[in-house]
Amino acid sequence: GQSSSRGVQNFKVVLLGEGCVGKTSLVLRFVEDKFNDRHISTIQASFLTKKVSVHGRRMQLSIWDTAGQERFHALGPIYYRDSHGAVLVYDITDVDSFQKVQNWVRELRRMLGESICLAIAGNKSDLSDERTVDLVEAEQYALDVGAFHLDTSAKHNEGVEELFMSLADRMLATR
Ligand code: GDP
Ligand code: MG
Repeated sequence: GQSSSRGVQNFKVVLLGEGCVGKTSLVLRFVEDKFNDRHISTIQASFLTKKVSVHGRRMQLSIWDTAGQERFHALGPIYYRDSHGAVLVYDITDVDSFQKVQNWVRELRRMLGESICLAIAGNKSDLSDERTVDLVEAEQYALDVGAFHLDTSAKHNEGVEELFMSLADRMLATR
């Protein structure tokens, strides 16, 4: 990441995934510790920032969320270029959303190679009774593409901190 005068390194993280899987909810839970039961159409800024410390090193994460463009296939390389990390989100009750994650992984690896750290979030883990995406399969897939996988619940605040902090750890190790 880019170094600032105060020794804080900046890292860009993009959220990708189908509409309604909980991307905005994950960002708002991590940055502001909030949750809303309704779909949040946009956040005011195109990205939110959060300062974190990993192994005593200070990082500023700029976390970019989409404002619904994912539905119109309108997200191009401009959105994710210069990213150090990506969080690919699916809904554990929606197999199709996991397929979309795989499309994004292919695209990111093709465009950015190994330079980008990838986290895959199986969100809505509070709805595990309705799970249709097999956890072991998802974890194996993540390993196969050099990513890591975590189940998360933005609603119950499970796995969210670990998701972003593990990604931060990886991004730091890559630089
Ligand atoms: P986005 O379109 O991917 O940004 O999804 P949103 O963050 O707007 O969330 C879409 C819907 O899923 C909203 O109704 C959220 O309240 C709901 N949602 C988000 N995260 C969770 C979760 O962890 N569990 C459950 N049960 N619902 C969630
Ligand atoms: Mg959203």
